[in-house]
Amino acid sequence: MEKEINHVDKRIAEMKASICPRCQNKQTELMSTSPIKGVWEVYLCHNCFYSWRSTEPEENTNPDKYLMPFRLTKEEIEKLPLLPNIPPLRQKKK
Ligand SMILES: [Zn+2]
Repeated sequence: MEKEINHVDKRIAEMKASICPRCQNKQTELMSTSPIKGVWEVYLCHNCFYSWRSTEPEENTNPDKYLMPFRLTKEEIEKLPLLPNIPPLRQKKK
């Protein structure tokens, strides 16, 4: 029964944060919840990798209020430079 309730809570939380504030994409996921139930949730966008906690100010969490200069479009995301690869480990000097 408790498992079923947690599942329902998760669905409600996902519906609340179904749009990424930064790129407006709907591919978001509930990543974590507070140890004390219902205090906060953390979400992640699978499109631009923005993550946010539900208790942050609306300019960080609300897609309509997220600051324009920090928003990302699909075209901008495609043009972002790739993260450099981690180089191989150095050989130990003998
Ligand atoms: Zn996003």
